[in-house]
Amino acid sequence: EQANIGVVGLAAMGASLARNLAHHGNTVAVFNRHYSRTETLMDEHGSEGSFIPSKTVEEFVHSLAKPRTAIIMVQAGAPTDAVINELADVMEKGDIIVDAGNAYFKDTIRREKEIRARGLHFVGCGVSGGEEGALLGPSMMPGGTDESWKTLGPILKSIAAVAEGEPCVTHIGTDGAGHFVKMVHNGIEYADMQVIAESYDLMRRGLGMAPKEIADVFAEWNKGDLNSYLIEITSQVLSHVDEKTGKPFIDIVTDQAGMKGTGTWTVQTALSLATPVTGIGEAVFARGLSSEAGLRKEAQEKVLQGPDPTEFLSRIANDAEAKKAFIEDIREALYASKIVAYAQGFTEIEAGAKEYDWTIDLGAVARIWRGGCIIRAKFLNRISDAYGSGESFGSLLFDPFFKKAVENAQGSWRRVVSTAAEAGVPVPVFSSSLAYYDGLRSKRLPAALIQGQRDLFGAHTYGRVDEPGAFHTLWAGDQKEIKA
Ligand code: NDP
Repeated sequence: EQANIGVVGLAAMGASLARNLAHHGNTVAVFNRHYSRTETLMDEHGSEGSFIPSKTVEEFVHSLAKPRTAIIMVQAGAPTDAVINELADVMEKGDIIVDAGNAYFKDTIRREKEIRARGLHFVGCGVSGGEEGALLGPSMMPGGTDESWKTLGPILKSIAAVAEGEPCVTHIGTDGAGHFVKMVHNGIEYADMQVIAESYDLMRRGLGMAPKEIADVFAEWNKGDLNSYLIEITSQVLSHVDEKTGKPFIDIVTDQAGMKGTGTWTVQTALSLATPVTGIGEAVFARGLSSEAGLRKEAQEKVLQGPDPTEFLSRIANDAEAKKAFIEDIREALYASKIVAYAQGFTEIEAGAKEYDWTIDLGAVARIWRGGCIIRAKFLNRISDAYGSGESFGSLLFDPFFKKAVENAQGSWRRVVSTAAEAGVPVPVFSSSLAYYDGLRSKRLPAALIQGQRDLFGAHTYGRVDEPGAFHTLWAGDQKEIKA
């Protein structure tokens, strides 16, 4: 018997994916550089389905039915390149190599070119949902040729998460499109986590609420528009009590956020595409600031002056009605900022598609994010409806549903941002998202002044509102305007 699919790399992610594949009736060839991992998988889970273990790459490739399809799940970077080449050396024309690791999309574009030149198909597949997702159903974002999708599509559909009866996988586009979309997914995840964190901070340091009380607020929010995996786990984290000290878990965790780089890629890419993803950018920078241990320590020592949030907000905190109203304001601010973050993320996908010549169905992207991945949320149904309606619009903020939602939220949103500023609670994503919204809706922006400055100091020229063309004023001379 031959396998219809193979998995190379049997650490946490690869082993889970291989088991998921086997659970769904696939015959799975498995290979790992060190055989011990293969042995462990076979010993512990070999009876869960049909596996064909191999000790060498040659053996592995030959255990696959044609067109051979192998999913690589190894460390990103050089190890991935090494494994791709080992496979390509043994594989034959028409075979399919899938990289399901967290690759940078430009690496995927490069690898696809190289592998295509060797007559094979290369698919860069973003996978979200962590180890549990890989085992029970991830959200997957494959990029590759239509031909490879014919073979791979049914296999990936068999193991994907299911949301509203649909598998959370779609053919995103060619070469790096899948990893690009996965990258933006992670960027949105950063923003989504940060707006939740800002809400928590306002309730905790602002209103002086206990973690358990805040957990209950999030649990309540999870029943409405904000229903999502991230809100759900937030409530869980805030309810958790530290075993060792009996204190709320949140209070014994160091307040320095880590990151592995996909958020940074999202922002770097957005910068090079000149697409403002301010919410995602502020979320990445907020993690960066939290980790500036030295600077933060010095700021404490030098006592940078400012209001005490709890003291400032004590009037609201001590008035049950006002407190309830402010918590509702925070919920609205979170919702509006979240809409802006998604709007920006989808705009980046559109900009990427244009730059790299991909045709990406944004409605389909929203649909496959409804299950299996970290940002799964009820809200994504609305986004898929918005993009699914077929009408072309520039931003999610123009879709009637979201336009109305932000309009309804904006009074609260503005109150929260101004109150937070006065109270001294940093809300970088709330406030930058609001600035983005106000920037978009401004009829005239001070960019006119910037153009004037640029022309004065650097003769960079400017356009006129009343005449086409580029102009320059002879600032150092007779102040006359010339056509540039
Ligand atoms: P690791 O990233 O820890 O990688 C370990 C695996 O890579 C092992 O199978 C190891 O083999 C193999 N490997 C490392 N170097 C080489 C090499 N030079 N040649 C051959 N094999 C090599 O494993 P994970 O399971 O955590 O992650 C796998 C991939 O999935 C990564 O790209 C990671 O970024 C991504 N990932 C995705 C997540 C998601 O939610 N989508 C979550 C976590 C990871 P050996 O056993 O022989 O050392």
